[in-house]
Amino acid sequence: MSVDNKKEIEQGFLILRSITKTYKEKLVLSLQELKIGEGEFFSIVGPSGSGKSTLLSILSGVEEPSSGQIFLKGSDITLIPAEQRPTAMVFQSLSLFPHMTIGQNIEYPLKIKKIDKINRKKRAIELLNLLRLNSDFYEKRITECSGGERQRVAIARVLAYDPEVLFLDEPLSALDYRLRKTLEVELKDLHKRTGKTFIYVTHSLEEAMIMSDRIAIMRDGEVIQIDKPEDIYLKPADKFVANFLGETNILPIKNSFQENKLEIITNSKNINENVFAPPNTKINDGYLIIRPECIEFKESENEKTSSIEIRITNDYFLGSKICYVGDYNGIQITIERPREEKFIYKDDQDIKIYWK
Ligand code: ADP
Ligand code: MG
Repeated sequence: MSVDNKKEIEQGFLILRSITKTYKEKLVLSLQELKIGEGEFFSIVGPSGSGKSTLLSILSGVEEPSSGQIFLKGSDITLIPAEQRPTAMVFQSLSLFPHMTIGQNIEYPLKIKKIDKINRKKRAIELLNLLRLNSDFYEKRITECSGGERQRVAIARVLAYDPEVLFLDEPLSALDYRLRKTLEVELKDLHKRTGKTFIYVTHSLEEAMIMSDRIAIMRDGEVIQIDKPEDIYLKPADKFVANFLGETNILPIKNSFQENKLEIITNSKNINENVFAPPNTKINDGYLIIRPECIEFKESENEKTSSIEIRITNDYFLGSKICYVGDYNGIQITIERPREEKFIYKDDQDIKIYWK
C-alpha cells in the first residue's frame, strides 16, 4: 500500500476498495472504489436485481465480499460480522418482535448493553418522541400499530443501538404514497437531527433525490454514477441514468461537425433543422437529452436556440403544469410548461419547439 493510499484510508470514514461478490460463479457486484463521508445521507439507487441489497449487506457485514476490503475510520472491518460492528446496524422493518410491547422492542438493544431499567425507559421515550410518536406508544403492542408507526418503531429501535451508520434497505417501499411522502421528509429531518451517517437503498430515484446528499446509481452490479441529486438530474452519466428519472426526451444524434450542428437520427429522411450541440462536443454520435421543462413554444431572443418541428398529439393537465406529447418523425417528444403558458394547437399542424 502506498503512503498516499494509507493516509486516505486513515482519514476516510467509510471506504470500499475493489469489492466483488460472486454467487455460484455469477458476478453480481463489482466495485472499484466507494467513499462515504461521516454524517452523509448517501443513497444507492438502481433497478431490481442491480445489486443494491448485496452492496448494503456487504457494507453492514451481513455478507462477506468475495474479494476486496472495507475500512471504517481507518480500520479494516471486511471480515468483522455485523453484530460485532458497534458502528453499524442493518435496519429491517419486519424484524420487530411481535409479542413484545413497543417499549420492550426499543429497549432491546439497551438491555443487551446492560443499561438499567429506569434509564432504558427514559431513552425509549426519548426515541419515541424523536420519531414523533407520543409516550402512549410505550405500552402498546406492535400488532396495534399501523404500517407507518411500525416503520418508526423499527427506526427508533435501530437508533437505540446508537450506531454510527444506519443502513436502510427500501424501508418505505411497502407503504402507501401519502405515508411514504411523509416519512421521506421525516427521515431527512431525523438525519439532520441525529447527525448520523445514513446509507439508504431504494429503487426510486425520486425518493433518493428528496433525501440524499449524494446518490450512487447502480446497474448490473456496477456503480455507474455518484453525484449530488442536481448533478444526477442535470448531468446524467449516460442514457440509462437520464431515463431513470421521470419522462425525458432522448434523441439519437450524429455530430455533423458543421456549425456546431447535430443531426437527429429518425426513421424518416432527415430534414435540415437547427439543432446545436452543447459547446465542445467531440463525439461522432450519441444521444441528446432534453428535459421536458426545458422545451418552449417561443424562441428565446438572446440565446442560441435549437428548434425542430413536431406535431402535438395530446396534452395532460398536471395541476401546476401542463404536459404535451408530440411526435417528431416517430420519436415521442414530451414537453412540460407552467399552467400559465397553456399552448393552443391544432391536431394536424406542425409546430416549432425550441430549447436553449
Ligand atoms: P437489488 O437489491 O438491487 O434488487 P440484489 O442485491 O438483491 O439486487 O441482487 C443482485 C443479484 O444477485 C441478483 O441477480 C440476485 O438474483 C443475485 N443474488 C442476490 N442474493 C443472492 C443469493 N443469496 N444467492 C444467489 N444469487 C443472489
Ligand atoms: Mg434489494
